[in-house]
Amino acid sequence: MQTKKFGNNGPQVSVIGQGTWYLDRGDRKAAISALRSGIDAGMTHIDTAEMYGDAELVIADAIAGQRDRLYLVSKVLPSNASRRGTIAACERSLKRLKTDRLDCYLLHWRGSYPLADTVAAFDELIAAGKIRSWGVSNFDTEDLDELLDVAGEGKIACNQVLYHLQERAIEHAVIPWCDQHGVAVVAYSPFGHNEFPSPSSKGGAVLQSIAATHMATARQVALSFLTRVSSVLAIPKASSADHAAENAAAGDIKLNDSEIAALDKAFPRGPKPRGLPML
Ligand code: NAP
Repeated sequence: MQTKKFGNNGPQVSVIGQGTWYLDRGDRKAAISALRSGIDAGMTHIDTAEMYGDAELVIADAIAGQRDRLYLVSKVLPSNASRRGTIAACERSLKRLKTDRLDCYLLHWRGSYPLADTVAAFDELIAAGKIRSWGVSNFDTEDLDELLDVAGEGKIACNQVLYHLQERAIEHAVIPWCDQHGVAVVAYSPFGHNEFPSPSSKGGAVLQSIAATHMATARQVALSFLTRVSSVLAIPKASSADHAAENAAAGDIKLNDSEIAALDKAFPRGPKPRGLPML
């Protein structure tokens, strides 16, 4: 598993991590086994959120005894992101996750509380040792500019945003902004949530043929393509140990320039949309 520095000031983190949205909805034993199998295969970066129902409880069971090798991320809902509300939400997440600290704590998307209040709460949580760093999610460049004015350079660890083969909007401005300011980009829904290109589609056929030369799967090739840029990490969600192991193995695939060009052509970036797409 390749690792990347999580932003300018962060530690090395597995390029492929584990998403957990809806992980609490299926078979609990299979979910725990998926997370453990992912961790064993090197996907030590785990993403969750207070919004994801009981996912934090499932994670707590899966990671028992292995906390120190993990990079654990959770998120505060915008409706809780006041100065006091952010601290209370973080404490609830820590309790559900049965841990004493998060490696990174994110504002899930921008809401109505002033960014300065949420950032003040993040700083307080860092001082108390409850979080090691903080970041944001679903922030477009205008929001990032405002946040930078509030927080200053070197404080924003990451921006977690929608990024998959059929949705490459962040390549226009968000990735360049994050690169310039040393902010990690975390690609969520890297398989398009439930919209992965079918093998019978034109793009799907290109994926399959590249996969065949690497003795890999189409999903592994997709993850490798998305993480080809130095600042980008990806967090696919898997509910079975087999899926998790397959996704982890993508962290060792290196596509060459002509394969990247073929994928670029098969899944064109398209024009810059007016707003940042999000789920
Ligand atoms: P995703 O990771 O793009 O896709 C998940 C789907 O892919 C599931 O149906 C899963 O099936 C399937 N899958 C995974 N590995 C597979 C494999 N090897 N072979 C075949 N199928 C496979 O979707 P996502 O859950 O929306 O996004 C990933 C994570 O990003 C989330 O879980 C969450 O942590 C984060 N996220 C963040 C935001 C935000 O606003 N910040 C928004 C959306 C998502 P199984 O479950 O059956 O394995």
